[in-house]
This record gives sequence, structure tokens and C-alpha cells, in this order.
Amino acid sequence: MVQTSQSNNRWQAILAEALQDLDQLLSWLGLTHQQLALPISVSKHFPLRATWRFVHKIQKGNPHDPLLQQILPTIAEDIQTPGYTMDALAEHRCSLKPGLLHKYHGRLLLILTGACAIHCRFCFRQHFPYQTNNIWQTGYEDLKHYLRHHPDIYEIILSGGDPLLVDDKKLSVLFNLLADIPSIRYLRIHTRVPIVLPERLTPSLLKLLTQSRLQIIMVIHCNHPQELDHEILQTLKQFAQFMTILNQAVLLRHINDDPTTLATLNTTLFKANVLPYYLHLLDKTTGTGHFEVSSQQAQKIMWHLTTHLPGYLVPKLVVEQPGMPAKIPIAIDTNLMR
Ligand SMILES: *Cc1c(COP(=O)(O)O)cnc(C)c1O
Ligand code: SF4
Repeated sequence: MVQTSQSNNRWQAILAEALQDLDQLLSWLGLTHQQLALPISVSKHFPLRATWRFVHKIQKGNPHDPLLQQILPTIAEDIQTPGYTMDALAEHRCSLKPGLLHKYHGRLLLILTGACAIHCRFCFRQHFPYQTNNIWQTGYEDLKHYLRHHPDIYEIILSGGDPLLVDDKKLSVLFNLLADIPSIRYLRIHTRVPIVLPERLTPSLLKLLTQSRLQIIMVIHCNHPQELDHEILQTLKQFAQFMTILNQAVLLRHINDDPTTLATLNTTLFKANVLPYYLHLLDKTTGTGHFEVSSQQAQKIMWHLTTHLPGYLVPKLVVEQPGMPAKIPIAIDTNLMR
């Protein structure tokens, strides 16, 4: 790998320098406020944030750039769209203890942190009460107790926020705790870090993951091929030698809502042995209505992908509905395709 032995804290330094200043962003891109597609809205609860690696991939002078639209807070977020709520997935109902979401059979999702290396404007957990709802609030003893009393749980899903922003030391303690519970077989990590902060995928993290008796699944989150670069693909390919890596994307209006973009995304990731997992319809979270792609449009895109790509490069189109025992697959209505 590209990293040196003292690279373990390098990712923290890179993260600390993440862009948070709007004027710095606009001046880097050579854009004025007037040139933006929509006026800015300064969001206090969920401010601008992105790593420079991500920012450097935005095309200069283009207010419609698909990466820029994922991070730029605009007044579109202030619109109240009917049906959009602060807790779109009714997650408060399935959080029995802080940081534990036991919603789906056999799988327990843990909220490790609210922090992310990027603030995606469409994020469904942007209003999540991380301060009072995270695993550290519950503590390890109670977590152990919970797992011992729920032997039907065979998979732990680490989520957030981004669980890979937790340092190796803390992760290591958690991995050991989980490996001690005989009923747990899989450890899944949902993360956008490999795309926005690949420096975090250090040799010591890889060692941590491969040393565990648990089978590791990493689900990354990449929405557009422009988010990728050679170093990211190299790193993913290396990690993929030791674990299953899948990608999930959110279908976003004017960002990736065309089959060519998504086909390129999937074929590019496949170079690193990453396979597509889910393509999500947007969760209806307050302030994100402008990103919505209709189910009909989504089905048309899926039809194109299905008829042009090998089956293993076609993601599952799903939508999450509050109260349902799984994410719901959306079937293609072939009558629409005639
Ligand atoms: C999405 C999700 C899972 C995992 O579902 P899969 O279909 O196995 O990917 C588990 N728990 C919660 C709360 C989820 O939102
Ligand atoms: S990285 Fe994931 S959790 Fe964090 S803001 Fe983006 S979509 Fe939300």
C-alpha cells in the first residue's frame, strides 16, 4: 500500500483539515454566489463539510457539478415537502437502548458516532439525536448483556455517522467484545470513509479486521464515478482480498439519475472487486425533497441497467418504509418499459 508506518495518525490530520468554509469552497471553484444554481442556506445543525480529496474532484466553474450538489447547503433545504419528516424511518421506535437499533431479524445496528468526514445534504440521519443515542451511552457491559440475551443476532452492523472515524483502539475493544459472543458470525461496516478519506484504510486497520474471527463485510457508499480515483480503487482492491466489499448508492435527482452514470459507477468499482448492493430511493427526510427521483423514473433506470449489465453489476432497487421488517425491493413494472 501507499502508506508508510507512521501513517496511522495521518488520516486524523487530513480529517482535521476538512473544508468547512463556504467562501473557501467558492473561491477554490472560481464561482460567485450569483453563479450558483440556488442561494446558499447556512445550516447550523448540519454545516458544510467535505475532505479536500472530495472537493478537488469538483469541476471548477460548474455550479451543477454532481459532487458539489452533494455537499452544498442551499435554500432548497428550507422547503417543507409534504411527507418529509425529521425521523423518516421512525428509528426512535426501534432504539431500545441508546445506540442500538434492533429493527431487522438477526441483525443489530450499532451507532458508534455521529461524526462523518463529509456532510451529504441528502443524509437521512442528519437530524438524528447522536448526542443521546450512541453506543457509548449504553456501554459495553449492557451491550454484552443484550447480545447474550439475543442469541438470534448473528450480524452486527456498525453505522453512524461513520464508524471508521472511531480510532483503532476503540474499534479493537469492540471487535474483541463481539468476537466473544458465540452467536455473532458477521461484522458489517457501513462507511463512506473509503471514498472521502481512504487514508483511514491503514495497514493497522486491515490487521484489526483480518485478525478477528468474525467474517467482515464492508458496505461502502459511493454515488457517482467522479468520486473515485486511482488511490481509492487500489486501497479497496487490497482490502477486498480479505473481505467482501459492496457498494450502496442513493438515487439522487440531477446527480446520478441516469443509467450511464450508474453503469460507469458499477463497472469502475468492479475494477477494485467491489460489487453493487443497494440502490436506495431517497428516504423522506426533512430538507431533502429536491433530491427525490420518482419510483417510475427509478424503474426505468433499473431496466436500462438490467438489460445492459451482467446481473452481478446490477444493484437492488430498494426503499425503506418505517415499520417494515426489511428494506423493500422495488420490482420493475415492465409495462412501463414498452
Ligand atoms: C438497513 C438496515 C439493516 C441491514 O439491512 P440489510 O438488508 O441486511 O442490508 C439492519 N438494521 C437496520 C436498522 C437497517 O436500517
Ligand atoms: S457519510 Fe453517510 S451518514 Fe455521513 S452524512 Fe454522508 S450519508 Fe450521512
